[in-house]
Amino acid sequence: MSAPIPLSYAEARARVLAAVRPLPAETVSLEDCAGRALREPLVASHPLPPFRNTAMDGFAVRSADLAGASEARPVMLRVAEVLPAGRAPERPLAPGEAARIMTGAMLPEGADAIVPFEEAMRLGSGVDERCEVRRTPAVGDHVREAGADVSRGETVLQEGRQLSPQDLAIAAALGVPRLAVSPRIRVALFSTGDELLDVDQPLRPGTIRDSNLLMLALLLRASGAVLTFAERVPDDVGRVTARVRHALAASDVVLTMGGVSEGDFDPVKEALATLGSIESWRVAMRPGRPQAFGTADGKVFYGLPGNPASVASVFEVLVRPALRVLQGFTQLDRPRVPVRVAGRVESRAGRTDFVRSTLTWREDGLLWATPAGAQVSGHLGPQSRAHGLLIVPEASERLEQGDRAVALVLRPPEG
Ligand code: AMP
Ligand code: MG
Repeated sequence: MSAPIPLSYAEARARVLAAVRPLPAETVSLEDCAGRALREPLVASHPLPPFRNTAMDGFAVRSADLAGASEARPVMLRVAEVLPAGRAPERPLAPGEAARIMTGAMLPEGADAIVPFEEAMRLGSGVDERCEVRRTPAVGDHVREAGADVSRGETVLQEGRQLSPQDLAIAAALGVPRLAVSPRIRVALFSTGDELLDVDQPLRPGTIRDSNLLMLALLLRASGAVLTFAERVPDDVGRVTARVRHALAASDVVLTMGGVSEGDFDPVKEALATLGSIESWRVAMRPGRPQAFGTADGKVFYGLPGNPASVASVFEVLVRPALRVLQGFTQLDRPRVPVRVAGRVESRAGRTDFVRSTLTWREDGLLWATPAGAQVSGHLGPQSRAHGLLIVPEASERLEQGDRAVALVLRPPEG
């Protein structure tokens, strides 16, 4: 068994990202696209709105006809046409004419403003219908010009973008029923440890319940992955090797948790040599020092540490970015925000710390990061309370009260 390779966080990240490429795209219906990465730019083949239309129910008019209109000098126009949304005008508006028109309907040629119903009086009906207006509208009042939203030929959505329902509304409006997107990534997940029990098993001396498997399965699912396997394997090199091998065939990525450090019964560490081209790492980060990474059968393998805080942090800062490359996204990380540090945070030069912290808006208008309890990698409480990971960069020995820093946001801050 070879000694683990010492790496900085930046080096580990660079090696991980260098090993992954976006999976081949597939073309699917809009309904199936939400949350996935767009793999080719969406270019508008026609403008939006496609035609000049009204933003209000009212009368389409030629503003010149109403040049002198006022309370003292009302102007009467003949209503020549009624235009519900969806019906195209049959003829242009002649001088002295108006069209009664509903929101979204196309303006007749010659009309250049809308007088809302609230600002006009309707008289007569049928062929005798007229309207009386007591003010002069400005050219363009309540008119939505063709192309004001999106112009023809415009790139409305860039490649690599995570598609939102709002994005897909634009594709629908443009008459594009299918888009090229990344496939759903298939991930196999294994926890290891003879001390681990199922949630519903009673504790025996020396045992704990498996909390990582559930946490990471849910984090993976929320990040758009399909789980091909999510199971626990005993601390047995043969069993770990067999399950990982089996999973590689049906997955894009295989993740293991635990058993990757220097202990006597660390099965993942021992299995690496026979699985593929996988390195054992000692990353200068906290939490999450022991890790393993590489490829096997052309698939990505990531051996995460076992402690819950290490699993969650390494997932966020190394695994998630790799998955996002495979998923075709341009944006690889959780949102990063500038914060002020509440209290003092000790680290060590040469090590990158990811401090599980609460994020709170204070009255000074700034977002403050406070460590969410002792940063013990076996503790579950701090990561439940935390809104984000406060980053203590490699070069810093500590952060002081009031220092400016950066945090990765895991869930919305409070306040
Ligand atoms: P290991 O890297 O396997 O030595 O595990 C490091 C620590 O994390 C040990 O205290 C394990 O009991 C704990 N641990 C490992 N896997 C899990 C898990 N799936 N759920 C909860 N704790 C775990
Ligand atoms: Mg273990």
